[in-house]
Amino acid sequence: MSSLLFATPKELTGWLAKLAAGHRVLAPRQEGPAVVFRPQTAEQLAAADAEALLKRSTSSPKQAMLPQSETLVQFTSVKDAEDPSKLTTTLTVPEAAEPTVLFGCRPCDARGFVVLDRPYLEGPLKDPYYGARREATVIVTQACPKAFSTCFCNWVGSNPADSEGSDILFTVVDGGYALEAVTEKGAALLEGAGFAPADDKRQAVEEAHTAAAQGLAPSPDLAGAPAKIARRFTDEAFWTKETVKCLSCGACTYLCPTCQCFTITDEGSQLNGRRLRSWDSCMTPLFTLETSGHNSRAAKSARMRNRVSHKFSFYPERYSGYFSCVGCGRCVVSCPVSLDIRHMVTAAIEGIEAEAKPAATEAAPQPEAEAGKDKNAKGKPKKR
Ligand code: SF4
Ligand code: SF4
Repeated sequence: MSSLLFATPKELTGWLAKLAAGHRVLAPRQEGPAVVFRPQTAEQLAAADAEALLKRSTSSPKQAMLPQSETLVQFTSVKDAEDPSKLTTTLTVPEAAEPTVLFGCRPCDARGFVVLDRPYLEGPLKDPYYGARREATVIVTQACPKAFSTCFCNWVGSNPADSEGSDILFTVVDGGYALEAVTEKGAALLEGAGFAPADDKRQAVEEAHTAAAQGLAPSPDLAGAPAKIARRFTDEAFWTKETVKCLSCGACTYLCPTCQCFTITDEGSQLNGRRLRSWDSCMTPLFTLETSGHNSRAAKSARMRNRVSHKFSFYPERYSGYFSCVGCGRCVVSCPVSLDIRHMVTAAIEGIEAEAKPAATEAAPQPEAEAGKDKNAKGKPKKR
């Protein structure tokens, strides 16, 4: 367990303002009814009310690593004056990721990056764009002071003070914030911050974590859920009934911290242009439309089945039981017709007996299920 440090609200915003001299600092900002992560200048941070930076964002922070739209490569081709059939093409890739502080994540948001790391960084092909931003970013997370009615991080083996995926975790205590490094990256960022040691606040921190965890509704038993949802796959009547209200708007996927579908497009002419990667949504009808005209998920029930199954069956089947939903509840809050993934998951597994199956298909040996317990804190910050 590393040391706790204490910062007053003014010291916290002053620290962030100083960091902005050498980093892109992304922090929550209220924009109309939305709270979104935006780059903030040293002046804005110095003048900010710390409370305003602690609001829970309505959209997820995944754009810090996966921008809604990004240039993968720019291309410029020049024709040979003597032989116009010959082209010389120059490819330019974007500059390296800039050092970034992502401030004000919640534990579910930070854990969302761990979910994204598996497909983007752990396969045979690593995504260099995502990887560079991940490497250049320090994640500073606020332990949730209280759970909302739509929060269900406890369903997926987490809790409101989970430090998985974060570099620094801080907790609101009397008069300010108690901060603790989770990784070496986090410890390096806190070095020289000038915050006072606060090991005397350990008990207050633990009490705050326990109180927040107790505010969550109990989790259903999701043991065997991946296999049960897989067995529900061919029950078309079930998926049609669950999806009947869906508008196929895609809000649930665009706001989700773990949804990862993208599309690639080229812009410009054949001689000059750029290749873009942009967010896409598996909930929209054209997502699986092939050039042949065939659409493997033309029905919205098939798309919903895919979305729910990816989160609670396909992903855990592939990645040792970890769900790819982090229980943030954004899809529940923002669905215009109030569809609730919690209801779909519990309805899908209801009445289905778990079959004998390999251990890898069981629900996660979710590592952080105990409220307030930090598996990463083993005497010193972990290396990342
Ligand atoms: S599926 Fe919904 S609750 Fe789960 S991580 Fe995505 S937005 Fe959050
Ligand atoms: S937000 Fe609701 S209506 Fe829109 S695609 Fe998702 S489930 Fe359907």
